[in-house]
Amino acid sequence: MILGKYSLGIGDRFGRQGKAQLAALIKAKETGLDITPVWNKSHREHTIVGTKPADTRREADEAAAACGWKEPYFVDADHIGLKNVDRFIESSDFFTLDVADFISRPADEKDIARFVRERSKYAGTLEIPGIEMGLHVTQEQIRAIAAKYLFAVKQAGEIYRHIASTKGAGKFITEVSMDETDQPQTPVEMFFILAAIADEGIPAATIAPKFTGRFNKGVDYVGDVTAFAGEFERDLAVVAFAAAEFGLPRDLKLSVHSGSDKFSIYGPINRALKKFDAGLHLKTAGTTWLEELAGLALAGGEALWFAKEVYMQAFRRIDELCRPYASVVDIDRSRLPEPVEVHFWTRRRFVATLRHDQSCKDYNPSFRQLLHIAYKLAAETRQYYLEALQKYEAIIAPQVTANLYDRHVKRVFMSPSLA
Ligand SMILES: [Zn+2]
Repeated sequence: MILGKYSLGIGDRFGRQGKAQLAALIKAKETGLDITPVWNKSHREHTIVGTKPADTRREADEAAAACGWKEPYFVDADHIGLKNVDRFIESSDFFTLDVADFISRPADEKDIARFVRERSKYAGTLEIPGIEMGLHVTQEQIRAIAAKYLFAVKQAGEIYRHIASTKGAGKFITEVSMDETDQPQTPVEMFFILAAIADEGIPAATIAPKFTGRFNKGVDYVGDVTAFAGEFERDLAVVAFAAAEFGLPRDLKLSVHSGSDKFSIYGPINRALKKFDAGLHLKTAGTTWLEELAGLALAGGEALWFAKEVYMQAFRRIDELCRPYASVVDIDRSRLPEPVEVHFWTRRRFVATLRHDQSCKDYNPSFRQLLHIAYKLAAETRQYYLEALQKYEAIIAPQVTANLYDRHVKRVFMSPSLA
């Protein structure tokens, strides 16, 4: 199973936009750009929406059949662990092994000692093609990295073997993720984490580190863009070098859990990919749901009323909605418009406030983030919402396709001359 050089993780809360999402990758293919679609959905998301992994599989299969998509595509059990992987095994063929919670747990002292012994040859200046001055590594650093990450990587090994024992090795794509934590992993840490992943026999196709800066859901990157760009280039160099050095899959690549819409770093990512001729998995968050909401608002009438109602409810239930997403949203409550005000908005005003267009004076990132995590409220109306999606499909689908293609695919993957 080959993921391909470029792949795009597409989230779809309600599972109704598969065709519209795939249409964006068909457009890319028409320009000569091959990107593998991966429908990702986490346990948290399934629980909130009330869906099952089999629903995501059905969506992906139906979209591929309806669009005549003959290329590979995958269904990602996103951010799973031993506790919840079983319900995903049958329907998924891509597994994101999330071991962030196991970082800094104490590993067996014997394992740490063995790791340090076997990898101490890398102490000193580590020459890596693409990193000008090389990486500086000390013995103490190797020991500290082993102490911090070995337990987590061993946990990934356990999850991997558990899946492989049911599905069979080589029958699925494996990603190891450590992004949902506060501390970014440095390129040096990544090098040794990859060594540990190889020791565990995990044929990782992608690795998702925590990068410098904040990756809030549905809004732009917050942090030092230049620092990110340098770190990202060093990470690309480390991944390519480590894949060969440790016998990991040759097409091993970085996975960026973007949370969608990281426009200010999309340029640096694009340039780095071209510079290193590197692959990338870009995981987007469920912003397709925001395009549904924008489409409903654009439709006007009862659909606009519904979109406003979601905001009004979200405003009231903000604490409850923020709880599962506390570490990945930054909502400035003083910037949230009062529901009575929103009640009188035109459809244009609602969409302009929601849509991520930084040149528009009405755009409000707090409003957008609150609605991003408010999909639970639409899920509560279940039938009503699904019927509205069907009724206004002609307005919603082009929003979904254009969002993925214009704002993500073009900026991240396409040669600047074509984009
Ligand atoms: Zn993630």
